[in-house]
Amino acid sequence: MSAATAAGGWPPLREELHGIEPYGAPQLDVPVQLNVNENPYGPSEACIADIAAAAAAAAATLNRYPDREFVALRTALAAYLSRDAGSGGVEPAQVWAANGSNEIMLQLLQAFGGPGRTAVSFAPTYSMYPEYARDTNTRWVAGRRADDFALDLDAARDLVRTEQPSVILLPSPNNPTGTALPPEAVGVLCEAADGDDVSGIVVVDEAYGEFRRAGVPSALELLPSYRNLVVTRTMSKAFAGAGLRLGYLAAAPEICDAIRVVRLPYHLSAVTQAVALAALDHAPELLGRVDDLRRERDALVGWLRAEGYDVADSDANFVLFGRFADRHAVWQGLLDRGVLIRETGPDGWLRVSVGTPDEMAAFRAALTEVDGERA
Ligand code: PMP
Repeated sequence: MSAATAAGGWPPLREELHGIEPYGAPQLDVPVQLNVNENPYGPSEACIADIAAAAAAAAATLNRYPDREFVALRTALAAYLSRDAGSGGVEPAQVWAANGSNEIMLQLLQAFGGPGRTAVSFAPTYSMYPEYARDTNTRWVAGRRADDFALDLDAARDLVRTEQPSVILLPSPNNPTGTALPPEAVGVLCEAADGDDVSGIVVVDEAYGEFRRAGVPSALELLPSYRNLVVTRTMSKAFAGAGLRLGYLAAAPEICDAIRVVRLPYHLSAVTQAVALAALDHAPELLGRVDDLRRERDALVGWLRAEGYDVADSDANFVLFGRFADRHAVWQGLLDRGVLIRETGPDGWLRVSVGTPDEMAAFRAALTEVDGERA
């Protein structure tokens, strides 16, 4: 008998959801917000004007349902992804999109997870994954990363053999550590997950892919080699479009077809499609800002190390640093000085997003003060 029935409780919530707080970092109105890995740069005037014109044109069609197959957007996303995909490129039939990569992950688990099936990741990992698993009644198993946050490949392969997951979730660069996976690691897991007695997909979550350091390849290059590889991206970070809600993936066309079975009809609104297309037209300008942020990130890593902190190598637009006996006190001290960062990751570590030069100067000044107080 479920708890809801037993207690005659209201509302009749699923038993496993009782007492669970909704996910979300605090949204506080403070001067320096470096807690959810947003892009600190808003779109340019020219980009805003194009987005406004595209939204106005879409508004005139809102009496009709949008293009369910979002062909124009899939075509533009395929062209954009082809830059990172090696000689083969990416075809529109290999692309799928949804309202943020959060929705992409949920759709993947709806299609490939479910009762009797298992999803695997390696902690520390993105904290939403277990929630997608819970919401789709997929069993959740978390292996562990090595002390330097890299994947221990032998242990990872063993876990895949033992657990036989139908979905393996690999953020690269990883959130919260910033660690990118080498292509060999992706290849080993794709092979381990697709054998005579196992059949799983490997999802490489490249939400922060555009921020990777020079010479670090994207898993998109591996798409021709592995039929079970899915690479996800988002417009929330590099494209400064967190408010737009547009995530997407590249994979074998059969995988995109499978997702069509579980997606809601017309899940991408006409406004979303039009705005995303307009923003993609401004990719060169937006990616120029990404280069600025990568430089700012590398400078931040250098400064933190020079100050004596432990810092994880970062290929993302955030940095994990520590270690603190009482990380909450440091987080609070920074907040008291108007700087909001994130209390997340392994014990003793904190995560800070990369902002503008002024925001980073404020962060450095606040951290110096907080640490001075603690000394
Ligand atoms: N994957 C990772 C690793 C993330 O950190 C995030 C956002 N914080 C997402 C996916 C989801 O991003 P969105 O839904 O905005 O595309």
